[in-house]
Amino acid sequence: MTKRNKDGKVVLAGTGPGDPSLVTVAALEYLRAADVVVYDSLVSSALLREAPQEAEMIHAGKQAGGPSAEQGEINAVLIDRANQGALVVRLKGGDPYIFGRGAEEASALAEAGVRFAIVPGITAATAASLYAGIPLTDRRFSPSLTFVSGHSAADGSRTDVDWKALADLGGTVVFYMGIRSMPEITQRLVEAGRDPATPAAVVENAGSSCQRTVTGTLADIAARSSEAGVGSPGLLIIGEVVTLYPELAWYEQLPLFGKRVAVTRAAERAESMSARLRALGADVVEIPTIQIRKLPVAGEQLEWLRNLDRYDDLILTSAAAVDIFFELLKSVGRDARALAGLRLAAIGAATARHLDAYGIRPDLCPADFVAESLLADLAAQDMQGRRVLLPRSGKARAVVVERLEELGAVVDELKIYEPTPAETSYEEIRTVLDTPPDFITFTSSSTVENFIRILGEDDFTKRKQEIRAASIGPVTSKTLRRHGIEPIVESERHTAGGLIDAMEAWAIADAED
Ligand code: SAH
Repeated sequence: MTKRNKDGKVVLAGTGPGDPSLVTVAALEYLRAADVVVYDSLVSSALLREAPQEAEMIHAGKQAGGPSAEQGEINAVLIDRANQGALVVRLKGGDPYIFGRGAEEASALAEAGVRFAIVPGITAATAASLYAGIPLTDRRFSPSLTFVSGHSAADGSRTDVDWKALADLGGTVVFYMGIRSMPEITQRLVEAGRDPATPAAVVENAGSSCQRTVTGTLADIAARSSEAGVGSPGLLIIGEVVTLYPELAWYEQLPLFGKRVAVTRAAERAESMSARLRALGADVVEIPTIQIRKLPVAGEQLEWLRNLDRYDDLILTSAAAVDIFFELLKSVGRDARALAGLRLAAIGAATARHLDAYGIRPDLCPADFVAESLLADLAAQDMQGRRVLLPRSGKARAVVVERLEELGAVVDELKIYEPTPAETSYEEIRTVLDTPPDFITFTSSSTVENFIRILGEDDFTKRKQEIRAASIGPVTSKTLRRHGIEPIVESERHTAGGLIDAMEAWAIADAED
């Protein structure tokens, strides 16, 4: 904990279930400002990455089979850190006040005189109904909706659930924490008078790419779901609304649904790719293998930037190059107007998009997104004697400069950044590989090299067979092959979008086989 202020506070925030993009903006803003994060097992790791690097991260949930932290201990930690002046963000799956013991934590805080705020979350039932296609209410089928805790059904006493009233009420009934006691729950409802032919469904892992829905009736849902091996976390939904499932299921039919995809590109660049993959139903894990490190630019090179009017051409070859170039331009007291007289060439759709954000459209943007295409375009022009500024990665291939010089151009290469290995640990990559992803995306040769470097040669050799690589293009594929991996997918367009399309096409063809 680095930041301290005298008025600490605890924010109890719901994260929604499964899909990390279902968190609220409010929760995310608190998380990004947190000094301490206390989280449950159901909170996705993609979300935890949003916490500041220096934040103290405390896991308060059950670890596979192990005991969960005592509620009293959790309360004590929340109170202690808040009293030290920290902004404590307590993340809870779903909504904090729906069967999450969030209210008990809030009571403890109130009692201790600690300030707190509550941020709602999408509760599991909402996610299950929308992602499975079982609307919880629908005026054709159900006038009411009841949430019940299945835990109370499991302990013999149960003065809490009035089964007769529940059966008489009818409508939609959703049981949380009821997977294990499903035989008892369903039997009690039938004994209390609910029709055994009432449609019922179990939704496991709602809102995530491993969601599963099993349907049946009140009489047989327990047997059906145990046959299918349904486990936690799951919800039992009872009521006529379940009949809408065959018509309204959509998520489980997405092309990449159920596919686990690892994204290895730099964290800053992964976000939009991950979001697009998730929208296609994929279970995305990010294992950044590179990060962008800016290189110092000084002396004569600053003069190049101050005197852009001396150049004829400016070539930008990546989104990172665009951003860093404009930062540098600003640092020498210039702005986009300094580019007015230049011919501007860009490689790649992402590069062009980044330029667009600065209000600039490139003069040349090759149809194909590799350096070779740009060179072919330039070769068609008369480059003799033209002065070219090329701000780019310090690790970029020499071929571009060589070729431009062969064409007679005078090139100033400005090395402004360098992809360096990310801080992703060996353990992180290994954990991801333990359930081998359906695709590991490689969006540059550096992602391949660093992936192997982090994993280590020995482990890499051992696991090579399991690596199902999706490559962004021929250069990356060549690097993969050099390390003995034949990519199962290669993008035709050398963009993240092209790569996603290629994986989608592969998955559709695979499903048809
Ligand atoms: N506060 C949470 C619920 C916590 S109780 C919420 O609002 O969703 C834990 C129970 O929630 C589990 O036993 C299960 O019944 C349900 N649950 C949580 N996440 C789920 C998910 N992704 N899919 C189905 N059920 C889930």
